[in-house]
Order: sequence, then C-alpha cells, then structure tokens
Amino acid sequence: MNLYSLTLHEIRDKMRNGEISSKEVLDSVYKRIEEVEDKIGAYLTLTKDYAYEVAESIDRRRLKGEELGDLAGIPVAVKDNISTKGIKTTCASKMLENYVPPFDAHVIEKLKDAGAIIIGKTNLDEFAMGHSTENSAFKITKNPWDLERVPGGSSGGSAAAVAADEAYFSLGSDTGGSIRQPAAMCGIVGFKPTYGAVSRYGLVAFASSFDQIGPFAKDVEDCAIILNYLYGHDERDSTSLPAEYEDFKAALNKDIKGMKIGLPKEYFAEGIDPEIKDLVLNGVKVLENLGAHVEEISLPHTKYAVPVYYIITSAEAFSNLARFDGVRYGYRTKEYKDLEELYVNSRSEGFGKEVKFRILLGTYSLTSENYDYYHKRALKVRRLIRQEFDEAFNKYDVLISPSYPIVATKFGEQSENVSIAYMSDICTVPINIAGIPAMSIPCGFSKGLPVGMQIMSKAMGEAAIIKVAHAFERNTDYNKKKPSL
Ligand code: GLN
Repeated sequence: MNLYSLTLHEIRDKMRNGEISSKEVLDSVYKRIEEVEDKIGAYLTLTKDYAYEVAESIDRRRLKGEELGDLAGIPVAVKDNISTKGIKTTCASKMLENYVPPFDAHVIEKLKDAGAIIIGKTNLDEFAMGHSTENSAFKITKNPWDLERVPGGSSGGSAAAVAADEAYFSLGSDTGGSIRQPAAMCGIVGFKPTYGAVSRYGLVAFASSFDQIGPFAKDVEDCAIILNYLYGHDERDSTSLPAEYEDFKAALNKDIKGMKIGLPKEYFAEGIDPEIKDLVLNGVKVLENLGAHVEEISLPHTKYAVPVYYIITSAEAFSNLARFDGVRYGYRTKEYKDLEELYVNSRSEGFGKEVKFRILLGTYSLTSENYDYYHKRALKVRRLIRQEFDEAFNKYDVLISPSYPIVATKFGEQSENVSIAYMSDICTVPINIAGIPAMSIPCGFSKGLPVGMQIMSKAMGEAAIIKVAHAFERNTDYNKKKPSL
C-alpha cells in the first residue's frame, strides 16, 4: 500500500503513532505527482520548497512531544482563486498570470495554523466560471477515470488532484456547483458549506452572494475533520456568520433510523440520465434499509433556478471584475494610445471568452431598461426558491438528488452545446441560491464513470448531512474504488 493512497485520517494516525514522518508523507505525494501529473494536469503551481520547510517544522514539533491536531503534516492542494501569501494566485486567467498575493485567505491562515502543508495550487475554469475546467487560460485538467473526459468544473484541478491521490484533500470554491460537480465526476466527496459559515476573505470574488469555499475529501470522515477547521466567524467578511459551530466529527458513526429524507421530484425529471437517476435511487434505498423514512416531494420553482442563477451571478461578476482594468489590478496591454484604449485592450486581452460572456450578460441585465425585467424579477424568484427550501426543511432532515445530471463529458462537448452545459447546473445552483449546505458523495458508476449523490440540509444543518452520508458510506464501498492510472 502506498502512503499517498491512504485517507487523511489514516495518514494522521500513522503520523501520530510515530510510524511515519510528515516528510515521508510529503515524499510519497510528490512522487505520485511526478508519476501522474503529466497525464492529469491538476496543478498550476507546485510549492515544493515551502512544503518541505513546513514538513520539517511539523516533524520537529512532533519529536518534541507537542500535541498536534488532525491536519498537522497533511498535504493539501488549493484552488488557484484562493489567496496564498507569496504563492502565485492566478484564477487561471491571463489577467492575474503573475499575481502574488501579499496576504493569506482566512481559510489558508486556518490551515497553516493547523499545520496542514500547502503542496500546490490547482487549475480551474477562469475566475471559477464554468463546468469543465476547459476555460482555464493555461491548460486543461483530465478526469483521472477517463483521460479523454473533463474532471468537471470549475474546481476541476482540486477534484482531480484528490481523485488521483495527488493530495489528501483540497480546497475548492462553489458558486453554483463548482465543488459538488467535479466531486461527482471524479468519484470523491465534495462539500459546499452554509453561506457565511466559511469566510470568503481572500477568495477572489465571482458572485459574492453565492461563493463559498469548501473541501474535497477522500471520504466522509475526512470531510468532517476538514470542516471543523474551515468553519468560524471572521470579521473581515461582512457576510460571515457569528455562530458557534459544533464538532462535526460528533456526527460520524450515528444511527439514521427515523430520519426524514425528501426526494424533490424536479431533480429526477427529464434531462437526468436514467442510469444516474437509478444509481441515486439505489443509494436512497440503502438509507431506507437503514431505517430512514423517504418521501417524494415537489419544489416547483426549481425550473427557474438556472436563469435566476445566471442573471444574478453575472451581475455580481460584472461588478466584482470591474477592478481588473490594467490600472488598479491585473494584466496591462502593451498597445494603447489613451486611457480608454488602455482599459479596453487590457480587458480584451486579459479575460477569456467565458468571462467576457458573463460580464456582458451582467452589463445587459443591469441597464436601466432591463433591470426590472431581469434583475429585480430574478431576486424575487430567489426569495421564492429559498422559501420553498425552508418549507421542505420544516418536514425533512435532508433532501437527496443527483449531483449532476450527466456523467463527465468528453473534451469539447460542452462548448459545442452551450445550453446543455448551462442546464446541467440544474441540480446544484438552487442550493447556492438558497445559501444552504450540500455534499456530493460517490454512489456508483455509469459506463465506468463515477456518479454523485447530493445530500442537502437547512442552513447550518451540516451535521444531518454528515450523519446520512457517513451511514451511506459505511454500508457501501464506492469511495474505496480508485481510477487506474
Ligand atoms: N457552473 C457554474 C457556473 O459556470 C458554477 C460555477 C461555480 O460554482 N463557480 O457559473
């Protein structure tokens, strides 16, 4: 058994009982990266020198007999839209190609305090806009299960790194599914926290009222461990919740007898691959056999979620990306005669096609003629979608659906059919619209490709998700399967 293929909690135990050092763990992961990274392309930057320095200090502390937490000495990969002090943070955009942040994101401070070792920054769709990681300005990332297919997006590099055992866990960001979708397509666990539970300080903003940072993990236990470190109030993010969080590890190994599960029928309707639907329903059967009560429910506003999501997020993106103008931030063109040309050429050359599309959409829906018709109406429907979830969670502990309606697509397929690409967000965007938490957990294989089941709860109800997901994982073995690389 190679060290790199173990889970976070397994490797933690081995380090704790003195079997191995943090340096040996790092050696194993970097060796793995050397072996497979040419095929996968998960990373944009590797931080080897830095990583070994941290590993040595962790080993020294351990030798002195210091009590170290769960993450001490554990290698982690970080999506390249999360600020890392002294380490390039490009957002996979030409706009920020050479940007080295002078500060750490809140989550990075937390990981560093916990002794986790940042081993590299991972590829993504430019500014986290996309579903396949094909929109990166620098390279594509391949799905470890099938190198001709996408890993999902936008956090495709972070998902592929964990699925290919090139990291024990990773961080992504999820605005409309960018953690859950690639987690589903790469056969690992991905978690999108309650809006406000994890500070966005240092996350390069896409759509601020939707964005959340969350983890990719090899199993549910690892996920619970990581959440304990990411959650917490931060004054530097005005939307950070001033809440006390429970220990998520306490939600592991629990009985789910009597828990109430709702299956929203709109998430199993036309457009969902029938094999995926069957796999998720089989997964639900496992939970039913463990004593959960399952009922079909209806969330009728689901059909508006995709347009609502794209209208509001594009407006927020338009505003957030205004700062990248070649003067205040970002790439500056070499060709300009006057100030206007400086702005126009810097932005035209610095941003890719998808980002420009979102900026245009945002500009369009915010004009005085269009504002009421598009933006205001989208905000109203957002409220209705939230209310619908609130009502459902008065009756049910969790809701379950597929994480993604299709299996990982081949390269190029999404750009050939853009409307399929946008509609495929249908299972994940409602969750960000409502600000609730959700996990994607592996629930089987269709045509040899991993499929994810999405488990959602009310805001701050993550313990219920972990309970159900862990019960499922203990009674199945999908998370133990590995791609052959
Ligand atoms: N696929 C969605 C989009 O393109 C979600 C992206 C995300 O969650 N960052 O906007």
